[in-house]
Amino acid sequence: IFDEYAIKSLIRPVPGFPKEGVTFRDITPLFQSPKGLRMVADSLIQRYIDSPVTHIGAIDARGFLIGSILAYELNRPLVLLRKAGKLPADTIGASYATEYGEATMQMHRDALAGGEQVLLLDDLIATGGTFLAAASLVRQCGASVYEAAAIIDLPDLGGSQLMQDAGIPTYTLCAFA
Ligand code: 5GP
Repeated sequence: IFDEYAIKSLIRPVPGFPKEGVTFRDITPLFQSPKGLRMVADSLIQRYIDSPVTHIGAIDARGFLIGSILAYELNRPLVLLRKAGKLPADTIGASYATEYGEATMQMHRDALAGGEQVLLLDDLIATGGTFLAAASLVRQCGASVYEAAAIIDLPDLGGSQLMQDAGIPTYTLCAFA
């Protein structure tokens, strides 16, 4: 049974990380809790098990944690969307703004052929820049984003709204306002 309160209680607020004035939402206690991890995984598995999702797109690095579980349970291919310089073969890239400046997300050029329905996964939506860059890579390949799913939304930062305005359906398990 999914219990939003239980999930939220396993996410630790860390004031002042990575800089003054920011409260980081730390998911390590959630992953250290077998019950918490199972709740997160099971609710996402239930949501997508009978969906037309063809591929799981997991975002570097915390999106890998949940993405791998989903790919295994749904028996779908796992595609990695990584920070620049990590993927060894031929890549395509998309730049995006972060709190600290500009970053680039990359995907192997041959990871998608076109026509796929990709479920994008990450741990958290803040400004939405990361998911928007990931969606741009998927679309560059001629594939579609079926949905962008995360454990946490920070709605006050406007990212999930921005994503929906960009035609990317979003789904999150909990929110901190
Ligand atoms: P955005 O691109 O939406 O502004 O930021 C989301 C990305 O930054 C995600 O990849 C996420 O892992 C990371 N991130 C930003 N703030 C936090 C936070 O407070 N907690 C966690 N766990 N990740 C964060």
